Amino acid sequence: MLIGVPKEIKNHEYRVGLIPASVRELCHNGHQVVVEAMAGAGTGFSDADYGAAGALLVDGADEVYARAEMIVKVKEPQASERRLLNSSHTLFTYLHLAPDRPQTDELVASGALCIAYETVTDELGHLPLLAPMSEVAGRMAVQAGAYCLEKSMGGRGVLLGGVPGVSAARVTVIGGGVVGRSATTIAVGMGADVTVLDRDLGVLRHLDHVYGNRIKTLFSTQEALEQAVINADLVVGAVLVPGASTPKLVTRDMLRRMAEGSVFVDVAIDQGGCGETSRPTTHADPTFVEEGVVHYCVANMPGAVARTSAMALNNATLPFVLALANKGPVAALRDDPHLLAGLNIGCGQVVHPSVAEAHGYTP
Ligand code: NAD
Repeated sequence: MLIGVPKEIKNHEYRVGLIPASVRELCHNGHQVVVEAMAGAGTGFSDADYGAAGALLVDGADEVYARAEMIVKVKEPQASERRLLNSSHTLFTYLHLAPDRPQTDELVASGALCIAYETVTDELGHLPLLAPMSEVAGRMAVQAGAYCLEKSMGGRGVLLGGVPGVSAARVTVIGGGVVGRSATTIAVGMGADVTVLDRDLGVLRHLDHVYGNRIKTLFSTQEALEQAVINADLVVGAVLVPGASTPKLVTRDMLRRMAEGSVFVDVAIDQGGCGETSRPTTHADPTFVEEGVVHYCVANMPGAVARTSAMALNNATLPFVLALANKGPVAALRDDPHLLAGLNIGCGQVVHPSVAEAHGYTP
C-alpha cells in the first residue's frame, strides 16, 4: 500500500503521524511511504532520517494526498486538508467528530474511510490509542506541578520530595486511571507524600497492590476529597466519567482553605476540568492564580513533549497501521472489532453511533 504522512498544520501541533522507525517497519512489510518534507521537524526527525528509513520525501501536502491510499496523521484534518481527501483514501488519525459538525459533514462528503484513534477499543473496553497521551499528561502533571510550587511561579516554595529533616510535599491525585497512575508513579519517584482517590475499588486495589504503604488510597467521598484537597501542596485532577461532563469535584471553597501558593494541575481540563475555578490555558501562558492557588490547566499537555508523545503514539498506532496496510482497510476492519470501533465515517455515511447521534445522522 502507498501510505502518506503530511506535515501537521494545526496551530502548535508538532507531532507527526509516523516516525522514521514506523516508516521503516512499513517498508520492511513491502509498503511505500510518502512523507511531506519537514513533517518530522517538530519532533526532531529530519528529512534525512525519513529517507534513511525508506520514505519518499515530497514537497507539499497536495502531493502526499494525490499519491497515497492511506493518510496517517495526528490531528483532525484542517479545512484545507479536507479538500484533498476523496473516496480513494483511508484516513487514520484523531478526529473528535462529536463536537465538530463542519468536519463531520465534509468528511462524509469526501467519501473517505475515516478511522478515529480515539474510538478504537481493546479487549477490556479501554481506548488504547488515547492511553499513551494520558500516560504523558499524567507524568507531566507532577513535573509541571513541582515547577509551579517554586516561588518564582507563585508557588509556596516547597520541594516535592523534601530533604532529610524536612517533610516531603503532599500530593493528592483525584482519579486513579491512566493519568492518575502515571502521575502517582512520578510523584512517588520524586519522594512526595501521595494520596490517590477514586470511586472504583478495583482501581484502588490495583494501586495498593503496586505501591503498598508507599501511598494512601481513599474512596472518593465528599468528606475524603475535601480533606485530601485542603491539606495538599499539589492536587492533580485526573477524573473521567465516560460519556458525561467532568464533575466539578474541587470547589472554590476547598481552594480557599488550601495554603497560599498551593498548586492545582487540572489534567481533566480537556473535558471541562474537575475544578470549579478551572479554565483552559496554553503552553504559552500555562498558569493563573485563583483563591491563592496556582492553576495549571493546559488542555494539550502532550504537545509540550512532542517527540516523546509522537513516539508513544506510534507505539500504539503502528500495529493498526500495519494491519490496515497488510490486509487492506476493508479486511482489516472486518477481522478486528476493536479497529472497527474506530470507524467513524465510511461510504459517505456516519457509522459511529455517538457521532451519528451528535449530528442527527442515521448510523
Ligand atoms: P481514565 O478513565 O483512565 O481514569 C479516570 C478515573 O477517574 C477512573 O479511574 C474513574 O474511576 C475516576 N473517577 C471517576 N469519578 C471519580 C470521582 N468522583 N472521584 C475520583 N475518581 C473518579 O481516564 P484518563 O485517561 O486517566 O484521563 C483522565 C482525564 O485526563 C480525562 O479527562 C482526559 O481527557 C484527560 N487528559 C487530558 C490531557 C491534557 O493534555 N490535559 C491529556 C490526556 C488526558
